Amino acid sequence: MKTPQVQNIANKTVIVRVDYNVPLSMSKNGKITVSDDKRIQLSLKTLDFLIKNKAKIILISHLGRPTGSKTGLQKSKDKNLSLKPVADHLKHQLNYPVTFIPDTIGDEVQKQVDELQAGEILMLENLRFYTQEKQADQKFAKEIAKLGQVYINEAFSNCHRNHASMVNLAKLLPSFIGFNVKKELQYLTQLLENPKKPFVVIVGGAKISDKVGALQNLTQIADLILVGGGVANNFLKAQGIETHHSYLQDKPSDKKKENINYVEVAENLLKSAKTEKILKDGYIPLPKIIYPIDVLAGKNLKSTHSKLINLTHNIKDTDDDKDLMYLDIGPKTIKLYQELLLQAGTIFWNGPMGVFENKKFSTGTKEIARTIAKSSALTILGGGDTIAAINHFNLSNRYDYISSAGGASLEFLAGKKLPALEAIK
Ligand code: AMP
Repeated sequence: MKTPQVQNIANKTVIVRVDYNVPLSMSKNGKITVSDDKRIQLSLKTLDFLIKNKAKIILISHLGRPTGSKTGLQKSKDKNLSLKPVADHLKHQLNYPVTFIPDTIGDEVQKQVDELQAGEILMLENLRFYTQEKQADQKFAKEIAKLGQVYINEAFSNCHRNHASMVNLAKLLPSFIGFNVKKELQYLTQLLENPKKPFVVIVGGAKISDKVGALQNLTQIADLILVGGGVANNFLKAQGIETHHSYLQDKPSDKKKENINYVEVAENLLKSAKTEKILKDGYIPLPKIIYPIDVLAGKNLKSTHSKLINLTHNIKDTDDDKDLMYLDIGPKTIKLYQELLLQAGTIFWNGPMGVFENKKFSTGTKEIARTIAKSSALTILGGGDTIAAINHFNLSNRYDYISSAGGASLEFLAGKKLPALEAIK
């Protein structure tokens, strides 16, 4: 898969599939604005290259989950999901004109495209206003393909989706990946193919279902997997350790997936992960998956009191404790994980160690974030809540690479082929 060269795009009409699915907020006077433009920033290198080399640029993206229709006509509740505010934001970012058209296909769009001059940008309306986008409809993709001569995928975070603008369209035109997609692939591929050893993975958050594929694959590759957050509860339960009323995911977050018992999955992972040697200057026998040895518990996610529970003791589910949820890793676990992380040559982290949004249960995530920031290893982070956590602790510029693509990067790390990238190949 290649990024475009000057001769591929100069004076050509280039359709760039970006992921401008950015958070929006409404001001008091009813104006909708972009509240976090990270995803827009990620596309700027590709846009600069296209502008400098006099391409005619057509930007396409989805935004949110509109109901959509066959004709692209917006239902009233979809109106707030127009890409117009995003086009306005981009215009200010680039200090460059960006023309917005309130449709995605059809005669009016074609007319505007015909008038497009070299180096100009046209942004089309939300792809998902047409239900055909998510249905990977070939006719819809052909309508978009008619507008341009070249296709660039600069939407890594959407590459796991088999949608018309991601897959069908890539097969209809000469196709390239954008500079950010390339960078993302380089870092993630390094994790799978050439991680500097010892390779330590640390996984937390609430939803084990989203991470199980990556956990299964990385168990084969990494030297050590440290688990925290709600994900760890599945491993504790699998080891027969009492978890009281802790959050245990028992249904996949994606309703289309078959029902899976994640405690059994955790049990199988613990059994299949072999003992490894992990010290640089010697050997130490350790299980590959390490789970917390102590936790902070509370009555609910908003609890203002915490109780330290030592999990190496025999815990009984008494009346006093039965409502308790494990909401953060405890001080001994933090120390153990810190020691292991500081030995690493490569670290991949996805998912907070506890309910970091509540100060009472944020220490585990903060300490782990700080340790990874200090580490001399190659440090790669991913996932929306992990990014939210490091922003919260003002540590965001302290890591080698932060992947903005939660689902897509986890699918990639699970060893799965991403349909949008396969289409470009
Ligand atoms: P995820 O999207 O799966 O990475 O989950 C992120 C969310 O997990 C954050 O909002 C955390 O508050 C939450 N979380 C982390 N640890 C726990 C825990 N022990 N119990 C319940 N929720 C948790």
